[in-house]
Amino acid sequence: MSNSSADACKLAYVLDAAGFFASYQLIVNGSVYTTHEVVKEVKDADSVRTLEIGLSAGKVVVKEYSTESIGKVKEVASKLGELGRLSHTDLGLLALANDLLRECRDVIVVSDDRSVQNVALALGAKVLGIKRRGLRRPRKYVYVCPSCGRIFKMPGTCPYCGVELRRVRADRVRKP
Ligand SMILES: [Zn+2]
Repeated sequence: MSNSSADACKLAYVLDAAGFFASYQLIVNGSVYTTHEVVKEVKDADSVRTLEIGLSAGKVVVKEYSTESIGKVKEVASKLGELGRLSHTDLGLLALANDLLRECRDVIVVSDDRSVQNVALALGAKVLGIKRRGLRRPRKYVYVCPSCGRIFKMPGTCPYCGVELRRVRADRVRKP
């Protein structure tokens, strides 16, 4: 593992595709990191062009994430009721943020995805929303069947009633 930038890493931004779409890599004052999967999701011509400029200038770094961090992200996401809402790309991006938290003083995850923001906060990163302000604190969610009231950890349909489960903040669930 390369640690050549460890000394310089006071502030790291971790961007998802929406962050590149909004050209955040040009705005923020710090190193910008992302994953191969995110780069593949950046598709519109303008975003691709500014991403390429950032990459060639060394402002944007595409970094591998550890499988160890994937495990940690899944564990944290599961506790918050977010695991079923995170894509493979989301998990990788959060794992990268978790890796960077070991090397950098501050890690800021730039994303409008509430589930990504939620898990990022729980991992100890900060979040920056793009179109709207990011979450301030992690929130725990559960999935409640509106028909029978059973509570689940993952989104989907109730296996007893076949009804779509509702996502509810855990602290707002009324016990039957
Ligand atoms: Zn039910």
